[in-house]
Amino acid sequence: MGSNNESDVVGSTVLGYPRIGPNRELKRAVERYWAGRTDRAELAETAAKLRRDTWRELRGAGLHTVPSNTFSYYDQVLDTAALFGALPERFTRLGLDDLGTYFAAARGVQDAPALEMTKWFDTNYHYLVPELQPETTFSVTGSKPIDEYREARADGIETRPVLVGPVTFLALAKPAAGAPPEFRTIDLLDSLVAAYADLLGRLRDEGVEWVQLDEPAFAADRTPAELDALARAYAALGGIEHRPKILVAGYFGRLGDALGVLARSPVDALAVDLVTDPSTVDAVAAEGALRDKEVVAGVVDGRNVWRVDVDAALAKAATLLGTAAKVSVGSSCSLLHVPYDVDAEADLDERLKGWLSFAKQKVAEVVLLGTALAEGIEAVADGVAAARAATKSRNEARDLRDSRVRARLDALRPSHTERPDYARRAAAQRSSLGLPALPSTTIGSFPQTSDVRKARAAFRAGRTDEAQYAAAMRDEIERVVRLQEDLGLDVLVHGEPERNDMVQYFAEQLDGFAATHTGWVQSYGSRCVRPPILYGDVSRPEPMTVEWARYAQGLTERPVKGMLTGPVTILAWSFVRDDQPLGETAGQVALAIRDEVHDLESAGIRIIQVDEPALRELLPLREAEHQAYFDWAVRAFRLATSGVADSTQIHTHMCYSEFGDILPAIEAIDADVTSIEAARSHMEVLGDLGKSGFARGVGPGVYDIHSPRVPDVEEISELLTTALGAVPADRIWVNPDCGLKTRGYAEVEPALRNLVAATARVRSTL
Ligand code: GLN
Ligand code: ZN
Repeated sequence: MGSNNESDVVGSTVLGYPRIGPNRELKRAVERYWAGRTDRAELAETAAKLRRDTWRELRGAGLHTVPSNTFSYYDQVLDTAALFGALPERFTRLGLDDLGTYFAAARGVQDAPALEMTKWFDTNYHYLVPELQPETTFSVTGSKPIDEYREARADGIETRPVLVGPVTFLALAKPAAGAPPEFRTIDLLDSLVAAYADLLGRLRDEGVEWVQLDEPAFAADRTPAELDALARAYAALGGIEHRPKILVAGYFGRLGDALGVLARSPVDALAVDLVTDPSTVDAVAAEGALRDKEVVAGVVDGRNVWRVDVDAALAKAATLLGTAAKVSVGSSCSLLHVPYDVDAEADLDERLKGWLSFAKQKVAEVVLLGTALAEGIEAVADGVAAARAATKSRNEARDLRDSRVRARLDALRPSHTERPDYARRAAAQRSSLGLPALPSTTIGSFPQTSDVRKARAAFRAGRTDEAQYAAAMRDEIERVVRLQEDLGLDVLVHGEPERNDMVQYFAEQLDGFAATHTGWVQSYGSRCVRPPILYGDVSRPEPMTVEWARYAQGLTERPVKGMLTGPVTILAWSFVRDDQPLGETAGQVALAIRDEVHDLESAGIRIIQVDEPALRELLPLREAEHQAYFDWAVRAFRLATSGVADSTQIHTHMCYSEFGDILPAIEAIDADVTSIEAARSHMEVLGDLGKSGFARGVGPGVYDIHSPRVPDVEEISELLTTALGAVPADRIWVNPDCGLKTRGYAEVEPALRNLVAATARVRSTL
């Protein structure tokens, strides 16, 4: 440290940056373009401005190296498929221009359904899954990274183009329909690496000094064949003579064996995530093969919103100083996963704001740490003092700890997470609910009409008062209850008109959470979410849903199902405090939900659904960590739901049909009824559930709400009959496969009418 030419041994960079625009400019621009309200030139101009603003900001902040090609019109994995000519023929034959083909693959068009979308590792970002087949060949057919590099350079900014790495690309892709069963996408490695090699040569021709290839796939368990592919890919790319220097970024967790593979490969630098898994710093320090490489030490958390602890971060980065030829301070992953700028939050509590760091602040942290590492803390004494003060203030904030909540958690006994035997509960519920065989219901939300949205917006803007708002919601609830009676559904819902979002709605009412105005994060394409910030001990000052549920139940003789979001999903879709284990935080949220469950029961609600669509999302990337996750996640759900009478029926809902990894958890949460997605996979999931010994109520979705199609009586009856082949009739429920809030009444009404008719038809055959 403190050498005269410190920039030779210490640097600073970030692995990526948000791209949707500080005010969601990109979202608006692409949606206008899709609607035909702007032309391509105007869209391109917005995009170019966003890129330019980002580069200038990163350069201006003092980063040693600035990434490019982190912009995307929709998704970086789709960009990669387009760049290497690997879009399925159903899109390329449409005869559209390049952008039209690209958006067709992202969003689908008539007769050419979109690529499948799925979660980007364990984040809330979703990417499009490339479809490959044995005949797929790759070649450089696009120029996006080159164009963006030129664009930045024309603005006087030297950048490091970022690409999804070839092995991660293949690991995330899937075989196209009709590919032979023995085909593995990784079989295409040689062709893809050749195309990357070609691209690297072209980038070098442009004068590019460094490229970044992202290989986060190696933070998850990988097969020996995939590790071998990693070794071969980087032996080949590193062996090219005419190429930029290569930085391989492995983030979202411990690299395991891949660390050694990459260290021994002829690449020039490695970026490692020192936030997600603390042991990574030791593994990297012990890696002798890094001695002549550069290392980007990811010490600033790229996916959570807390200010960095400078001393801890500096200690980690300093540990690596002797290990590698050069150490750069970096973000742990791309900053895509955090909002732009905490200073844009006018209404956030000042003290809380002082603890937070969004993308812009994280860049400043990286620069600060880089300078401190190179020149010593004295060189940035003011910045370090301010950061330390923030850490101290957060550590010492006694009011974040709620002794009542902690005492309650400490006093829990096993009985707080246990219900009596399922058979006994089922008998009690049968006699108290008196439902017909194959009871029909919905998942909770009904279409959010423009009237509902207008009423909420008017109330938020202060144009109407609480009484007017509540009256509008009651009218809507009554309408939805009457509709369900008319349709002939057996278990009704209130329709959730008062909920903006299934997590935010609860976060706004719980202590320990804060909401932002502008804290948008890209979820997929043009869709952004604003996750609440869970910053302190969580508790429920007062009932959250009881009045609406009581009102709805008062309108009808039929049971109305109470509707809550589960503790795991509330954590999964929030930014969560990082000063205690997730399981502990989950326990606090679970207690708050438990109180709500109790109050709903006291208000006469006999069926309570606790949604956990995100139970699978928080599953750790490595199997070795699954059990520890299940332990706290299952306990949280059970804590939330086990304080009720045997006769009170607990439902849960999950938005997927592939349960492979979480089957043990589905069983262990011990809900009386679990509704799942099944329509699209034609009930296959029931077989898997059956094999696992699952023997409680199940509601396999028989109406795919992800499509505007109205299923007819015939096909719903068939699905139900198939379901009856896998599960005894007395455990089957009939329902759509998710909430209806994104659909319109024009489809929902006939679809539910058919669902009820099909139920009657199949019931008569029992
Ligand atoms: N109860 C919620 C609804 O019906 C469930 C939503 C979800 O599963 N994502 O909208
Ligand atoms: Zn769902």
